[in-house]
Amino acid sequence: MAGNWKMFKTDDQAVSFIKNFVPLVGDIADRDAALAVPATALQRVAEEAKGSGVIIGAQNLHWEKEGAFTGEISAPMIVGAGASMVLIGHSERRQYFGDTDEWVAKKLSAAIEAGLLAVVCVGETLSERESERTFEVLSKQLKGSLAGFAAKDEKKLILAYEPVWAIGTGKTATKEEAQETQAFIRKELKALALPAESIRILYGGSVKPDNAADLMAQPDIDGLLVGGASLQADSFAKIVNFGK
Ligand code: PEP
Repeated sequence: MAGNWKMFKTDDQAVSFIKNFVPLVGDIADRDAALAVPATALQRVAEEAKGSGVIIGAQNLHWEKEGAFTGEISAPMIVGAGASMVLIGHSERRQYFGDTDEWVAKKLSAAIEAGLLAVVCVGETLSERESERTFEVLSKQLKGSLAGFAAKDEKKLILAYEPVWAIGTGKTATKEEAQETQAFIRKELKALALPAESIRILYGGSVKPDNAADLMAQPDIDGLLVGGASLQADSFAKIVNFGK
């Protein structure tokens, strides 16, 4: 169950969230909780979360280890800040910052090389869904984004299916739509000769405490990627603790 804070929270606000959140999910043993936080808060949040089991990650990275790339951060910098995960190819990165499947593949290989857990995001836009191109679009994104990914690194990869039309809109895909699409993604992973059954596939898009359990009951939804509802400790803890 992963949260994505996007461009919200100063480091003080982030630390105060973690102090409230950790006790609310302290006794989880059968699921993972993770948070992708702003780069400026990584170090303090990772320090505060140490020993809690809550995984802390960044929201993006550059594929080079270092260089003249103003404003970017690299995988070794994320590791150096004490974090262990990174989101790659979130639809906001693809839409506003030009991330392509080719970039996603390069970022993924940099993340894996540094030992980070990589959450690779894919998803179709509303017009692509309405023109019945969802599977074609996902197939292309998966093939391009996972180019060069080796099956032996399966434990370091998580896929996140996030229909762009469901992100931050309050419109969740129905559990049937999400299940059908995620089953397709698993089939595509198999076709790419990857161990599809053991790679976790998250659903993301307007997940809230009251729809988490229904989504999680679907066989091909292994977890949730949560934006808005991960910003308050109590609502994200309810999602993490679904079914308890
Ligand atoms: C996201 O940012 O990945 C996301 C799914 O956002 P929201 O939950 O707000 O739709």
